[in-house]
Amino acid sequence: MRISSRIENMLGGGSDGWDVFYRARAMRARGEPVIELTIGEHDIRTDPSILAAMDRSARGGHTGYAAVPGTEALRAAIADRVTRRTGLATAPENVLVTPGGQAALFAAHMVTCNPGDRALFVDPYYATYPGTIRAAGAVPVPVATRSSHAFQPTPEALEDAAHGGAASLLVNTPNNPTGVVYDAPTLEAIAAVAKRHDLWLISDEVYDTQVWDGRHVSPRTLPGMAERTLVIGSMSKSHAMTGSRIGWIVGPVEVIDHLINLATVTTYGVPGFIQDAATFALGAGAALEDKVAAPFRRRRALALRILGNHPVVRLLPPGGAMYVMLDIRATGMSGEAFANSLLDAERIAVMPGESFGRAAAGHVRVAMTVDDASFADALTRLAAHAERLAASAGDTAGSRGPAAGAPGG
Ligand code: PMP
Repeated sequence: MRISSRIENMLGGGSDGWDVFYRARAMRARGEPVIELTIGEHDIRTDPSILAAMDRSARGGHTGYAAVPGTEALRAAIADRVTRRTGLATAPENVLVTPGGQAALFAAHMVTCNPGDRALFVDPYYATYPGTIRAAGAVPVPVATRSSHAFQPTPEALEDAAHGGAASLLVNTPNNPTGVVYDAPTLEAIAAVAKRHDLWLISDEVYDTQVWDGRHVSPRTLPGMAERTLVIGSMSKSHAMTGSRIGWIVGPVEVIDHLINLATVTTYGVPGFIQDAATFALGAGAALEDKVAAPFRRRRALALRILGNHPVVRLLPPGGAMYVMLDIRATGMSGEAFANSLLDAERIAVMPGESFGRAAAGHVRVAMTVDDASFADALTRLAAHAERLAASAGDTAGSRGPAAGAPGG
């Protein structure tokens, strides 16, 4: 069978580190009581008020083709939200409604990258990034970050990667998988490199309502950045609407016009009743967003209490998003080996850092997506498991330090 090389090579080959996830799912299917802290799916459902709005719209007849760029009402609601939250005047014409953030990521690379262009992205990264870039015909180039620098990209690393020429730079704050929020110097370094090397900045802000200290800062608001930034937004995380597939791109009007052409030949828009539900949800304002984020805020506090000063497990600064990242190199294990042993010994499933790139080797990502009591119990048992491993590694190696040559910095 002849398949295009673009599709055949899209995923890059090699192990993707998702074995633990599939093993946990299989154990659960056999009836074993596994605590799953793997994927970014809320433990609550879409709010009934949003579902009622969806139902009203569908029964009211909004089941035919909807406007390809998005309904007037939803584009206006998104523009208002962006203006209000960032202080940067944004018009409905700056907005394209998409079927989720993932489709927006693909479209953003399609509109900014020529075939063969280098497209930069920060490692560790959300698992679809390299494949999305390849699907758009571009060449993914990771910008390495270090655990010891809280996985914030440094000016030097950004400059290094941009030096060979690139069309775009993809950043994500609050970050999946690290839970880190980029600080002001990082955002300034990102803006500086984008301007110096004439890069499009693709800013994935799907976790913008999940910032635990201070507030979210969009790099689009920095001087000279609005004309070169495409912001990726989504209602998946902010409104627990993962299955509704609704998101957006905000950017310069001319780019949005091209993206509307792309949408016409790909998605042909988003179902009208979903858009109406999204318009309703955005109209409910910050109160609804805070309600959806509240469980993660509580569990992040639990994680700080349980792991804040742990001698073996190092908690990366949990600034935002629904994850915490743990450095487990003191056990002498890779993230993958640790996650597998935790699943076998404790029936707790976490994601190996290696699933999210080389920079996160020796770490595990913990999704805060189970009830508070189970979450606290899982972290306590994870920490005890790590202590036992570190003690036995110390017995055999005569040292409790990180494994020799452990990558990730
Ligand atoms: N970006 C990041 C960083 C994500 O974590 C996700 C989903 N986990 C997405 C984009 C895509 O989300 P969606 O397509 O559901 O909007």
